[in-house]
Amino acid sequence: MNSPDFIELSQFVHYLRKRFHLPCLAGMFRDSRLRPRIPSCAVWLSLFLGEVVHVFSFLQLQAETRLPQWQRWVGYRGEISDDTFDYVSERLDPAPLRQAAWWINRKLKRGKAFEASKLHGLLVVSLDANEQFHSDHRCCEDCLCREVTRKNAQGQEVKTLQYYHKQVYAQLSGPRLSVILDFEPMRAGEEECATALRLLRRMRQEYGPRFWDVIVVDSWYVNGPFLKTVVEELGWPVIAVLKQECREVHQEIQALTRGQVATQVVERDGRQVEVWDVPKLRFTDSYPGPVRGIKVCEQWTERKRVGGQCRRVPQEQNWIWVVAGELSGYEGAIIRDLGHLRWKVENNAFGELTQHWHLTHCAHHHPVAVVVLLWIKLLAFTLFHAFAILNSKLLRLGQVTLKELRNRLYRSLLCGEPLLFFSG
Ligand SMILES: [Zn+2]
Repeated sequence: MNSPDFIELSQFVHYLRKRFHLPCLAGMFRDSRLRPRIPSCAVWLSLFLGEVVHVFSFLQLQAETRLPQWQRWVGYRGEISDDTFDYVSERLDPAPLRQAAWWINRKLKRGKAFEASKLHGLLVVSLDANEQFHSDHRCCEDCLCREVTRKNAQGQEVKTLQYYHKQVYAQLSGPRLSVILDFEPMRAGEEECATALRLLRRMRQEYGPRFWDVIVVDSWYVNGPFLKTVVEELGWPVIAVLKQECREVHQEIQALTRGQVATQVVERDGRQVEVWDVPKLRFTDSYPGPVRGIKVCEQWTERKRVGGQCRRVPQEQNWIWVVAGELSGYEGAIIRDLGHLRWKVENNAFGELTQHWHLTHCAHHHPVAVVVLLWIKLLAFTLFHAFAILNSKLLRLGQVTLKELRNRLYRSLLCGEPLLFFSG
């Protein structure tokens, strides 16, 4: 049988074998069981395939592993119980999974997969923190803890403890292929900036200083110690959005540009963008700078129904960006484009993971399993997106969406000849 759906999974498997040696890769991930009845590889591949075809709960995954087609795919002729998924995910080592992600991302870069993601010749990494899940009752030794106020049955306000897990992600942003390069869990009592710096130091060791060119962050990271470490110690320029809370420098940029003619006026996606470029500003005592301020005013019109009539209504957005480190060769409008990459929804790994890959779902609450399952999700995400965006003609021609392609992979698993993953 050679239905069009069947071709999708065979193409995906062929691509993974040829480009990423997935059977070898899957063989690297061993767990600490002494005499495993079910091979680690079959459990790992089931978790991986579950992510790709959108099967998130372990009970649902257990049901899928009863299918002969699934068993042939993962190389194990038997059912895998949800208890086994719990047990193995607690005993897999996260380090080789992270190394696999590094290896895959380096391979993608060598193959020029990120060339189209460059903007004005620069590759941008953005940092995002994400609270993965929270619970009022269950906690593990790595849970973060906070006090929340809520109303009890009598309507009185009471304070209770809430437990949660939160990570900082490093995303390689780009107009085309966007991936998560690494993530780091926040530790109890730690500021988000401290987690981000631990992440960036590790990434510099693994990926090297030249894998990307610029770091883009939100206003949360705009403080002297963070900028000093990233710019002076790690050697990357930083573009950060500046909010009003950012004291003197925000006021200084407003004061210096008030009543002044814009340095530059450009058009972006139907918007008129005015840019004021303010060089050599002093930032704080802990990072005297200099920093560069970029004030941006964007104006456009939107069609809206007002009083039963369709009218074009003027819209305006104002941004202030601060640039620390060497980006003097790039004019203000380019700084605006680089900064905006982080907020663009299209091909944004973080947005896609949140919307369509259940980033905020955790199938098993355990300190090791939380990290292990997140890495498996990210590996599945990167490999599927590499296949879809770099390899699939259907996606390129606009005939299917990413979601539809995942559905087709699942349907092709169920129909047609079962596919032997390890053959060939
Ligand atoms: Zn926990």
